[in-house]
Amino acid sequence: MLLFTPGPTPVPESVRQAMATPTLHHRTPEFEAIFKKARERLLKLYGMDECVMLASSGTGAMQSCVLNLCKRKALTINAGKFGERFGKIVKAMGRELVELKYEWNTPASIEDIKEALAQSPDIDSLFIQISESAGGLRHPVEEIASYVKSVNSDIMVIADGITAVGVEKIDVTNIDALVAGSQKALMLPPGLAMIGLSSSAVKRIGEGVDYYFNLASEIKKQQKNTTAYTAPTTLIIGLNAIFDEIDKEGLESLYAKTSARAKATQSALEAIGLNIYPTTPAKSMTTIIDDDAEAIRKLLKSKYEVNIAGGQDHLKGKIFRINQMGLIPVYESVWVVNAIEMALADLGRRIFDGTASKLFNEVYFYELKQ
Ligand SMILES: *Cc1c(COP(=O)(O)O)cnc(C)c1O
Repeated sequence: MLLFTPGPTPVPESVRQAMATPTLHHRTPEFEAIFKKARERLLKLYGMDECVMLASSGTGAMQSCVLNLCKRKALTINAGKFGERFGKIVKAMGRELVELKYEWNTPASIEDIKEALAQSPDIDSLFIQISESAGGLRHPVEEIASYVKSVNSDIMVIADGITAVGVEKIDVTNIDALVAGSQKALMLPPGLAMIGLSSSAVKRIGEGVDYYFNLASEIKKQQKNTTAYTAPTTLIIGLNAIFDEIDKEGLESLYAKTSARAKATQSALEAIGLNIYPTTPAKSMTTIIDDDAEAIRKLLKSKYEVNIAGGQDHLKGKIFRINQMGLIPVYESVWVVNAIEMALADLGRRIFDGTASKLFNEVYFYELKQ
């Protein structure tokens, strides 16, 4: 079965092998050297002043950003499950909340943010997804962050990059915290969360708050290549192995291939009569809206050995999402679009003629030559 869900993503063989070594004690020079290497490479990937690794799923990093960077009132962007989650965390942590709500295919607009900031001048932090995985939507985070900073440079901009870090180059100029998770674009098993931080964010964190998610104590320890509590040693070994894989061709090549694959998949599926759901699609996944979404997904699983994701909440049975994150062999992506065309033929919607795989190959190679 090909795993093509937008998280978890498949873990490369070399990485699984690296993680199969005997358990290391985390308080040893041996592990500190491994941690140091992972930390340096993570800082380079982020292009930010500071970073921390946490033993938690991505949501733990989201929560620690709310705890440590929002003192009073947060503005959150809810255009899907994960934006909604930021709002729920803000409430659960006892901070005040202003939420801008959008349909799951619609990106946040600067106009709305302008209005929200004007109405609530005491907002001290903005929480937004770069790629909102619920509908495969790309928010214009860089433009929004730049606008927010122009209004008030003290407002902390927290970007959830769980399906964006490792997918595309992110302009972090106006971003204070950038969250990543192991099981999406970084192709690791779940359980490791990462946050890139600006020096202003580090200042804002100060002494930190909370206990497990106190970012001040983590920063202090991690600058010395250790962690406040037991480190997820296996996942950090895996992170180095992923960087080794990525380094074989380089980060730029990973970004270029991901972008080409997303474009080629979109062209292939549009050519066989399918419709893209978000008005501004993210590169992390391809999301199709279709009345037969569930039937197509079931056929893919039962007949063509491909596991793709469906929709949640009001989009259950109405969309399907195909992963584009990570190192994906081209032939696998071609198999997926071809399988979708065959499923459409099974459903009597078109006669199979290989249009999808033809388009995919054409667009993919054209894009990479640019
Ligand atoms: C998966 C995901 C999360 C949640 O991460 P968990 O590791 O499941 O806690 C948050 N934000 C986005 C955009 C995601 O795709």
